Amino acid sequence: MNYMFCPRCGKAEQLPESYCRQCGFFLPDLSKLEKREIPPDEHLKANTALSVLTIIASFTLSFLLFAILGFSSATHPLIYATAGILIAIGSWHIQTLIRTQKLKQQWKRRTPLTESETSTPTFKSASTAKLLDQSDLSDTPPPV
Ligand SMILES: [Zn+2]
Repeated sequence: MNYMFCPRCGKAEQLPESYCRQCGFFLPDLSKLEKREIPPDEHLKANTALSVLTIIASFTLSFLLFAILGFSSATHPLIYATAGILIAIGSWHIQTLIRTQKLKQQWKRRTPLTESETSTPTFKSASTAKLLDQSDLSDTPPPV
């Protein structure tokens, strides 16, 4: 059994997905939450695949509608409307595909940046400089 610390009061040996024996705080199962979370690039990959499939299917279908029924005088106007909608759906998904690729690039660029931001020593020295700026030096004894 995996025990955890209460995030509110710090009491040890608590069961996840129960209430803290000391302060009554609800303890979520953090290991389960992490497993359930799907990384954004997985969603982007799925979106890309679905967009490509939709583009191929809608353009193929509209082409077939025009090729088989398009030049017959008996063709109902709804056939043309349907073919038009299929072309529109294909075009919308080309847009989605382009946007998904841009998001993918942004995500790839962002991920190493956020990692280096938290670990670079420049971040620490910057915050030290900020602390020095904010500190009150008025009660410092005058130099002898
Ligand atoms: Zn607690």
